[in-house]
Amino acid sequence: IKRIGVLTSGGDAPGMNAAIRAVVRTAIYHHIEVTGIYRGYEGLIENDLFVMDSRSVSSILTQGGTILKSARCPEFRTKEGRATAYKNLKDANIDALVTIGGDGTFTGAEVFSDEYDIPVMCIPGTIDNDLFGTDYTIGYDTANNTVIEAIDKIRDTAASHSRLFFVEVMGRDSGCIALNAGVAAGAEAILMPEKDTAIDELIQMLEEGMDKNKSSMIVIVAEGEKNGGAYHVAKRVKEKFDFFDTKVSILGHLQRGGSPSSFDRILATRMGYHAVKELLKGNSKSTIGFKGNQIVTTPLHVALHSDVFKLDEELLEISKVMSI
Ligand code: ADP
Repeated sequence: IKRIGVLTSGGDAPGMNAAIRAVVRTAIYHHIEVTGIYRGYEGLIENDLFVMDSRSVSSILTQGGTILKSARCPEFRTKEGRATAYKNLKDANIDALVTIGGDGTFTGAEVFSDEYDIPVMCIPGTIDNDLFGTDYTIGYDTANNTVIEAIDKIRDTAASHSRLFFVEVMGRDSGCIALNAGVAAGAEAILMPEKDTAIDELIQMLEEGMDKNKSSMIVIVAEGEKNGGAYHVAKRVKEKFDFFDTKVSILGHLQRGGSPSSFDRILATRMGYHAVKELLKGNSKSTIGFKGNQIVTTPLHVALHSDVFKLDEELLEISKVMSI
């Protein structure tokens, strides 16, 4: 391998920059050149590439977002799109790829690598922590901290006015942020995509809280939760439980930004370093993961075709005990 191409794709996550920096510096340390690819697969198809050196990634370690930018690219799902992408790679003398993103990004990498036999290594970057082969994805820890900080602030005002708040957090398919932020911020109830919670059951929990003289109550609702999101849940609860002034707060995209936490910076740095080392060892078509405090790799065909189920049932039970 003489030149590695690096891209970020799909939803952005804090710590992606730290991963880019680690890829670039590890490659250069090993005398391998690096080309940055803007806007994920879109930039590859549109030939939006630039040569990177170790100074190209100065001072990005602490920055949220991704300096390479990200995009969703329907064209890469077509054979013609990928043919153009391959031609551009060849013209730029790129002979291996590191892709940072979620499972869509990994699927694209797998399809591309199957078609053109180009070595690829994938790094999990998403706040949802919903990828197979790693205990943690880059960005998840930062997003959790952001959510907790926001809920703490909501709690202050909720307690002053004896209010019931429904706080919607990100997680279309994963309740990871909802559950962990719920425990860390002391939420009264947590609604997640993985668990059906009937409105009546939720009302019962709230009634119990009221009987125990709680001065405020916070219900965390993951956006992919089955009752249809925080507004919908709040409306249905209010129809039967109208003892509290009820408010809804959708945290939205602020959860995707911000300076990465120490954990995410270190995780991203380790993953970026190992992605390059694995390519140098001749490994390909794999994802980098962090399991049991160690960096591991998982073949893409395993990672992409295994069920990811990260809901920690015990933590959910603990959250219920803590909310009495
Ligand atoms: P994420 O990586 O966060 O899951 P997406 O699902 O949007 O985000 O995937 C990112 C990009 O990966 C897509 O916009 C597309 O370009 C590419 N991709 C996803 N699935 C495929 C596929 N089956 N074949 C080729 N490319 C794909």
